[in-house]
Amino acid sequence: MEIYTGVPVSPGVAIGRVFLLETEERSVPERHVPAAEIDAELDRLDAALSEAREGLSGLLNASGVNTEMSAIFSTHDMVLQDPKLRDELVATVKDCQVSAEFAVARFFDGLVERFQQLEDQYFAQRASDMRDIERRVLRALLGDRQRKIADLSEPVVIAAHDLTPSQTANLDGGRTLAFLSEVGGPTSHTAIIARSMGMPAVVGLGDITQRLEDGTVVIVDGNRGQVIVDPDPAQIRRYEQILVGDERRRQELDRVRDYPAETRDGHVIRLMGNIEVPSDVTSVIEAGGDGVGLFRTEFLYVEGKPPPTEEDHVDAYVAALRQLGGRPLTIRTFDFGADKVTPDPNAAREPNPFLGSRSLRLCLERPGLFMPQLRAIVRASGYGAVRCLFPMVSGLEDLRRAKAMLEKARVSLRTEGHYVAEDLPVGVMIEIPSAAIVSDLVVEEVDFLSIGTNDLIQYTLAVDRVNERVAYLYQPAHPALLRLITQVVKAGIDAGRPVSLCGEMAGDPLYTILLLGMGLREFSVSARAIPAVKQVIRRITVEQSREATAWCATATSHEDVLARLRESLGELVPSLV
Ligand code: PEP
Ligand code: MG
Repeated sequence: MEIYTGVPVSPGVAIGRVFLLETEERSVPERHVPAAEIDAELDRLDAALSEAREGLSGLLNASGVNTEMSAIFSTHDMVLQDPKLRDELVATVKDCQVSAEFAVARFFDGLVERFQQLEDQYFAQRASDMRDIERRVLRALLGDRQRKIADLSEPVVIAAHDLTPSQTANLDGGRTLAFLSEVGGPTSHTAIIARSMGMPAVVGLGDITQRLEDGTVVIVDGNRGQVIVDPDPAQIRRYEQILVGDERRRQELDRVRDYPAETRDGHVIRLMGNIEVPSDVTSVIEAGGDGVGLFRTEFLYVEGKPPPTEEDHVDAYVAALRQLGGRPLTIRTFDFGADKVTPDPNAAREPNPFLGSRSLRLCLERPGLFMPQLRAIVRASGYGAVRCLFPMVSGLEDLRRAKAMLEKARVSLRTEGHYVAEDLPVGVMIEIPSAAIVSDLVVEEVDFLSIGTNDLIQYTLAVDRVNERVAYLYQPAHPALLRLITQVVKAGIDAGRPVSLCGEMAGDPLYTILLLGMGLREFSVSARAIPAVKQVIRRITVEQSREATAWCATATSHEDVLARLRESLGELVPSLV
């Protein structure tokens, strides 16, 4: 038995067997394959090589591929076709009895090392081409392993060094009990998705995967941030009791689902859901949500697949609107880069991805990328209550440029004879401190604001949201944050425009009291968090929340704020503390 402590990112506990998922981002561990399974492993290898070649041929045939790109992809295809490559990989799998991914990684490591030793610019470039080909094959193999989860006889605990957001989004909620990883912070995208699936998760667990293999029994304690490897029977019994208690609490919360999110003194709160793909709308409605306050559209991009067309966007938005039946759909434009998917996985890495050309900045630089989405948003607004939300706005300049592009989309659609709805509310995410500081100016030029605390916290406190080493500094209750949020909410109230909060902070019932007291009347949270937040809203009066908030505004540390909020929550809904 061994206990690992990491960062708790999604509450709840799970007891189960591990399924190791390698990621293409790091050296692939040596996974042993028993002799009886070698043939199946070779089939996996062949399937992956074919899939990688199909991906390349898709890119070669895609529109917008110039001659230079076409020459590069053709060379990659030639490497993949080379029978010597396959022979060598087959020999490694057979002779060493290792996984196909390990054989691929070992082959390309050797090749890249040889190129790098040549110290020539041309060969250095070839080395990066080889890495590209390797990633393509590994992606096919890892996707295949992920699909294998569906064939397992019992649900598993997924263990990985890290998971890309799209890998996490593809996890089958019904077959995954919990999730643990070696790196990651509290609002990394992987953590957000785990929470939205209601899956206990602990990240930042150091080198835990070295201690695990497929089938190892673990307890994942997402409340305390612990993972117990090979637990003894007494520990298993203790955690089974905790599971029973959790289930009882969940049933209690389910009961508030059909009641309105209204405070005891009659203030009606708009409690909406955050979604990644249109089908998530179902969980939002089932949880009793009032609409979608944040649709993270960058997940319409799937690495290795052609980019979504304008029609694909329209289909996705209209599908979500149909399920929403008149409730609002807030479509956030692409928030590419850093912790999220990127449209150019092969582009050179920037020195500071979080501060670089990402999100709205990248979209403004690349109208070819942005325009299809903007046109689709305008078109979808004819089908329901669409709101357009721009991420990563730093002030008035980028907001005006984004609005000008949206207007261009409207004009071109009208000229082409499309129906263009008059009413398309436009909002901005307040997630960069500069935008928060000038929120009184920004709010005058938009219809609504949405505070993105996940990024606002990281940019204000200079704490990387995905880095477990500084996770202890990532504090929503930091006095600086409380002042900034209060300022933004006030800017909205003064201008008579709605302000929502869609960061993870909004889904933690501990902060519901504080945010209500600041004057916030719109929340957007993961579907799973809706019942707990609603329960707090229904048990409190605005007067009570104002008292707690006034006290917190005078506190000098986040610990004091948290202590006060815990006390208030304990009085209102003891089971949530
Ligand atoms: C945020 O930054 O708070 C937010 C909601 O957006 P994301 O987590 O997608 O960056
Ligand atoms: Mg953000």
